[in-house]
Amino acid sequence: MSEFEQKVLKLLEDINNKLDKLLKIEPVPVSSAPTTSAMPSRAASTVKPSAIVEKQEEEARMEEKPPVEGRRICPECGGTSFATHEDRSQILHQMGGVKIYAKKYVCKSCGWEA
Ligand SMILES: [Zn+2]
Repeated sequence: MSEFEQKVLKLLEDINNKLDKLLKIEPVPVSSAPTTSAMPSRAASTVKPSAIVEKQEEEARMEEKPPVEGRRICPECGGTSFATHEDRSQILHQMGGVKIYAKKYVCKSCGWEA
């Protein structure tokens, strides 16, 4: 290996190390973010601004999900394809001015509403 090649290699290694450091420092976990204490620490290191909303949506989903099965089946036609609509007459959560509405499930095949 020539001296030049070794120099280049060394440089690449340095750059690599610096990148490693940068990558390690960059995503500072926002664990001190103003979240409620009720929030479980689900992937705290990858919290993004939309994570709280996603979390709320996830909670909403979990609450209305039938405990037995993960999939909804239309009692009318047996279809498993549903469209979701917000049911604004039912508020599930209200946190920091953000309202989470219950969702209506509408069968895509026959229009049956859950
Ligand atoms: Zn149906």
